[in-house]
Amino acid sequence: MRLSRYFLPVLKETPSEAQIASHRLMLRAGMIKQASAGIYSWLPLGFKVLRKLENIVHEEQVRAGHIPMLMPTLQSAELWKESGRYDAYGPEMLRIRDRHDRDMLYGPTNEEMITDIFRSYVSSYRDLPLTLYHIQWKFRDEVRPRFGVMRGREFFMKDGYNFDLTKEDALHAYNRHLVSYLRTYERMGLQAIPMRADSGPIGGDDTHEFLVLAETGESEVFYDSAVTDIRLGARDIDYDSVDQCQAVMEEFTSLYARTDETHDEARFNEIPEERRRSARGIEVGQIFYFGTKYSEAMGATVQGPDGKSVPVHMGSHGIGVSRLIGAIIEANHDDKGIIWPEGVTPFHVGIVNLKQGDPDTDAACEALYAAITAQGLEPLYDDRNERAGGKFATMDLVGLPWRITVGPRGLKTGVVELTSRRTGESEELNPEEAVRKLA
Ligand code: ATP
Ligand code: MG
Ligand code: MG
Ligand code: MG
Repeated sequence: MRLSRYFLPVLKETPSEAQIASHRLMLRAGMIKQASAGIYSWLPLGFKVLRKLENIVHEEQVRAGHIPMLMPTLQSAELWKESGRYDAYGPEMLRIRDRHDRDMLYGPTNEEMITDIFRSYVSSYRDLPLTLYHIQWKFRDEVRPRFGVMRGREFFMKDGYNFDLTKEDALHAYNRHLVSYLRTYERMGLQAIPMRADSGPIGGDDTHEFLVLAETGESEVFYDSAVTDIRLGARDIDYDSVDQCQAVMEEFTSLYARTDETHDEARFNEIPEERRRSARGIEVGQIFYFGTKYSEAMGATVQGPDGKSVPVHMGSHGIGVSRLIGAIIEANHDDKGIIWPEGVTPFHVGIVNLKQGDPDTDAACEALYAAITAQGLEPLYDDRNERAGGKFATMDLVGLPWRITVGPRGLKTGVVELTSRRTGESEELNPEEAVRKLA
């Protein structure tokens, strides 16, 4: 992409309404624009990152054997009256009446709708196990929307639902989700720690939240510092293997790690003192096993092997896709701007032309642009007629992992400068070497 043809409305001033770094930087880097409280337009740069995260989530869900689909944002109140949650959900639910006086709502989550889909088509245990998911906009009329996309009212969420014949099968689905979530966050360059949590209005007994440690996080958490040493890494997981998924679940959840709602001071004090941590965290996902809560209320039953009709065991599993962008920036920035992890960066490398209009410099930049693109990477080429200082500031703010600086002085000796955004280290290389280093 050439910056002269892109739409990247960066702000020089720090917006006063933004209280935390990620919100400030997303506004300043031209990623989002507030439309009304807690509701944002995703400008091209922000949209690009959102799509990248969405793709990672899709890839990891499909890898785990879960099936993508799409449900609408607007739902009929009827299903929610059946489950009993129409009244229980409270003022966080945005209620709408259509022209025929029908009660509608903007979905805050989709347990009811998916259960209705399930009961409409599935009637035999032979069709199980089944896990369906979608990535769709949600609306919750939060009392205090704040911190930009971290606590929006409209937000983008992946929510998946498993349907199983037995509790054991449903717990395998739970563990499968736990593993796939760990892999998802690691691909985004994040450490998200599963912590025992409270189930809130979704209901149920078994639930873990995934928390990214951050001073600006809204959750209070308590954990054994040894949990932060565990990584999933590149290990190969067979998602069909009950034992493998359970082993990962146990590895990641055996050490003490809880949110304040389930915190147990006595158990916490059993951890060696030097490993006891209390901190703040950002909730970037949650998994639930809730058994037959919705299937019983809504008649989602299947015929078992013995011919008897039984309600299915269910769970639901969510990832806050739009919130994750805030969490990634909270964990990856400095006072100049964002520092994107490689897996989610909107462009791979920035090209800064120090002397726009100089034929040799322009030609060298164009050649780099073509060579990088041919490698399957996306460059962002600052081809504007601007001073070098302004171009560097924009690149630092936007935070691409690499910058290649091209100027007449270097070109005289055949070199360009390759700079790492994270370390700030630069080296002079000939253009071919610089391109090779990016791969
Ligand atoms: P919170 O405790 O932050 O209000 P929640 O527990 O109500 O979140 P869930 O119902 O578990 O949220 O939804 C799944 C995920 O969706 C959360 O883990 C979070 O990452 C994301 N999410 C929830 N509410 C919001 C919001 N208002 N803005 C952005 N993301 C959100
Ligand atoms: Mg909430
Ligand atoms: Mg929560
Ligand atoms: Mg939650």
